[in-house]
Amino acid sequence: MISKKVLLFAAVCLLLSACGQKQETPEPTPSATESNAAAPSGGTSATSTDSETGQNQENGTDPAGPNDQNNNDKQNGQEQPVNLYYIDHTNNVVPLEEGAEKKVVLLTFDDGPKEKEMIDDLIDTLDKHNAKAIFFVNGYRVKEKPELLKLIHDRGQIIGNHSWDHIDLNIETEDSVRKQIEDVQNIVEDTIGEKPRFFRPPFGSVNDTLQQIVGENDMIYTTWSNDSLDWDPKNNKPEAVIQNIMDQMHPGSNILMHELPWTVEGLDELLTKLEAEGYSFVDPRTISDNPGTGN
Ligand SMILES: [Zn+2]
Repeated sequence: MISKKVLLFAAVCLLLSACGQKQETPEPTPSATESNAAAPSGGTSATSTDSETGQNQENGTDPAGPNDQNNNDKQNGQEQPVNLYYIDHTNNVVPLEEGAEKKVVLLTFDDGPKEKEMIDDLIDTLDKHNAKAIFFVNGYRVKEKPELLKLIHDRGQIIGNHSWDHIDLNIETEDSVRKQIEDVQNIVEDTIGEKPRFFRPPFGSVNDTLQQIVGENDMIYTTWSNDSLDWDPKNNKPEAVIQNIMDQMHPGSNILMHELPWTVEGLDELLTKLEAEGYSFVDPRTISDNPGTGN
């Protein structure tokens, strides 16, 4: 076993060496993390969201994802993310320690992978802004197009588990819930060599059993705290998606978006606006699954 000192030393080295490449360090800004969060997140947490529901019925598969915070260690020669943030009970992203940038957002795209063109466009824009996002995928879609899962992973984005069938897990039996979750863990691992670290339930629908199974699979459970409403047909324009997000914007925003044409189209403008307002983008790999500890 590696001693804590060694780990600490490694963490410090990483911090020092990775600064240049990581974008999680934004300009320092004071912010009322929880306050603003309250509005969107309060309703957003687990129960509230029918939002992403409607349209999500599309299926998908998703593979991939590192398993533990140390997954970084597996990537030889690559920057090793240090734990800087955690996701709190209101689904906002907050710093683990004083001094870390609070004015950050987490970008997420659910219900894929669907189409290569949309994924390429999304990631081109993310790259342009040096941003990382979580792609919460559905297992059935991954099974249909495993190459798209690989594409997301190979282009350096993060894979999350969004269940196999995109069904309401709150009304499923325990066995069914476990299968919906673990089958995705397995297909992702089979496809990209890593299991997802993040789980987001379809429709934000949750119960204790589900959360327990997510925990048993060493995943971070999260819904969202800023809903783009891009799933609602009446918001099928880039401007509407951007406006919805900006209306709910607050430090720590955990932004729910989907792999949808109008969202893809509006992403560059959205990220540009966020940067202009002083927000930076959290690298999901710096989100801890152990809020009690820093590094
Ligand atoms: Zn969904």
